[in-house]
Amino acid sequence: MFDRIDHVGIAVEAIDPALALYEGSFEMKLVHREVVEEQGVEAVLLDLGENHIELLQPLSPDTPVGRFLERSGPGMHHIAYQVSDIDSELERLRAAGIKLIDDQPRVGIRGSLVAFAHPKYTGGVLTEIVQPAEDH
Ligand code: ZN
Repeated sequence: MFDRIDHVGIAVEAIDPALALYEGSFEMKLVHREVVEEQGVEAVLLDLGENHIELLQPLSPDTPVGRFLERSGPGMHHIAYQVSDIDSELERLRAAGIKLIDDQPRVGIRGSLVAFAHPKYTGGVLTEIVQPAEDH
């Protein structure tokens, strides 16, 4: 079972100019900034109640987010659902016939465990499953 929306991921060309909108105009609080080498991004998290907005800047054009920007331009990239037991959730999704991009959970932003499901199996929406670090 998904507990709630953890965050919405948004691809940007560059984080700092994007913060003018999210911190400045939208008045969201920047709570975390990190380079996630494994995903080829620099990312920030902004608080929005119990949820977050995640801004993603590619480390190079030859990364998943870099290719996304090339293909689609800046904008919504993925939705992330929070779970308390990622292993059993991935098992459940596989059993439901949903193909996963990540066979095993990997370390995501802020020490979370994450895995992506293939958008072909999720109605065109790139879907991330997140188990926050606090829970493991
Ligand atoms: Zn994400």
